[in-house]
Amino acid sequence: MAEVLVYVDHVDGAVRKPTLELLTLARRIGEPVAVALGNGAADTAAALAEHGAVKVLTADAPEFADYLVVPKVDALQAAYDAVSPAAVLLPSSAEAKEIAARLALRIGSGIITDAVDLEAGDQGPVATQSAFAASYTTKSRVSKGTPVITVKPNSAAVEAAPAAGAVEALTVSFSATATGTKVLSRTPRESTGRPELTEAAIVVSGGRGVNGAENFAIIEALADSLGAAVGASRAAVDAGWYPHTNQVGQTGKSVSPQLYIASGISGAIQHRAGMQTSKTIVAVNKDAEAPIFDLVDYGVVGDLFAVVPQLTDEVKSRKG
Ligand code: FAD
Repeated sequence: MAEVLVYVDHVDGAVRKPTLELLTLARRIGEPVAVALGNGAADTAAALAEHGAVKVLTADAPEFADYLVVPKVDALQAAYDAVSPAAVLLPSSAEAKEIAARLALRIGSGIITDAVDLEAGDQGPVATQSAFAASYTTKSRVSKGTPVITVKPNSAAVEAAPAAGAVEALTVSFSATATGTKVLSRTPRESTGRPELTEAAIVVSGGRGVNGAENFAIIEALADSLGAAVGASRAAVDAGWYPHTNQVGQTGKSVSPQLYIASGISGAIQHRAGMQTSKTIVAVNKDAEAPIFDLVDYGVVGDLFAVVPQLTDEVKSRKG
């Protein structure tokens, strides 16, 4: 069976959920061979094996932490040369997309980014993407070289599929440009205790209708009752009510959670571009004509200041 390289996104050995989702998709195409780099790379092996990795190629070197993406591209290319895979899959994070693009260029292959689904095809993997602010769903396949495909978080379920996950050290020789750009410092963001916006299974977002930074407490309370991340429309962000890191949309982040709850958001096309692939969409808006209601699965016409706290209470009471 053909092997499929899966680039592992991890923090000091803790594998992030989108990588486990990638393993589910990789198994549709072939046998997943994971590539884990940097501090704690070998510690990823158990989780990766549990989710179907037949092999885990690891490498650690100061270059991975101290420099931007080129050392990682060098390592992924070394894995590519060693395995000759049927496809290379990466998560659709900003960093992994840059690694994907650079690898595709080096190996002379086509690339597909931001896939939301992936299946095996007669002539190679077929990727589903959402285009033009999710007005269209496209299916495409790479017709040149080995497909390099990045996949958005929440595109597949995480499935246990125990496999050998044998750890092998990857030998990497760094290219001349690997140390061209040095990382001078890293400042971790203050933790809110909530899940990462792009990875969260549930996102609760607020817009201009929230009418003030202090009122975002209502949105946060609902999010916390559901274990959700908090998102915001650009209007709310531009007003200074919520940080730009939480903006959903064309010039913010793209999310694709199981459940997206939009409160006081009209549903402008630029907002839809970042959330329309959510599996279930719920909106609370006092204007029955708001465009957001064209795309919802469930809509509540009402004042968010009345509806959202009731929803929070209901969720809490059901949790006991
Ligand atoms: P509004 O459109 O003003 O809608 C507010 C809604 O709240 C209304 O529907 C209103 O009925 C409702 N409301 C008011 N009070 C209440 C209440 N008490 N209870 C319930 N409902 C209430 N936007 C993004 O979100 N993300 C982007 O990334 C983004 N990128 C953009 C890029 C470009 C190049 C451009 C031109 C625009 C972009 N925008 C983006 C802006 C976008 O066009 C909209 O202006 C924005 O999404 C509107 O935000 P909103 O829905 O919160 O506000």
